[in-house]
Amino acid sequence: MDFENEMTLNFKSKSQNEGFARLAIAGFIMELDPTITEINDIKTAVSEAVTNAIIHGYERKDGVVTLHCAYSGKTIYIDIIDKGRGIENVDEAMEPLFTSKPQEERSGLGFTVMESFMDEVKVESILGAGTKVSMVKTLKSL
Ligand code: ATP
Ligand code: MG
Repeated sequence: MDFENEMTLNFKSKSQNEGFARLAIAGFIMELDPTITEINDIKTAVSEAVTNAIIHGYERKDGVVTLHCAYSGKTIYIDIIDKGRGIENVDEAMEPLFTSKPQEERSGLGFTVMESFMDEVKVESILGAGTKVSMVKTLKSL
């Protein structure tokens, strides 16, 4: 697909990069004049996916998280990719309140948050190879 603009960032799977990813995505889409609500929705969805890559994908071990973003008109396409452990059952993982880490006081709401803030959320995962979360949102702002 021929996008108007596109960027890819690779960063270490460290928790301080959750904040970096939020700022990076906000900076990249600023050109499209999003509303404050739209920016916050997208930042939140991205940080949920990045946090998942770090704590579930890599289980806090060293790895690389990729944040890819592209847009065409007012439609924004975002991918968050890890090469970590992968998800055995994606449908189950995406159910509200499902978490594989209840002992860490996770609430199992990350995917639910992504789905409520973005127009589309798709998860592709291969056990032992990694996970790609693809999200789409079309801005309503003029
Ligand atoms: P919360 O996001 O509310 O803190 P959570 O991270 O457990 O809790 P979700 O973000 O909805 O909840 O994710 C659900 C489950 O999907 C996780 O518990 C984990 O088992 C699995 N999962 C999510 N992302 C990944 C990933 N990138 N790699 C491996 N497993 C993942
Ligand atoms: Mg989560």
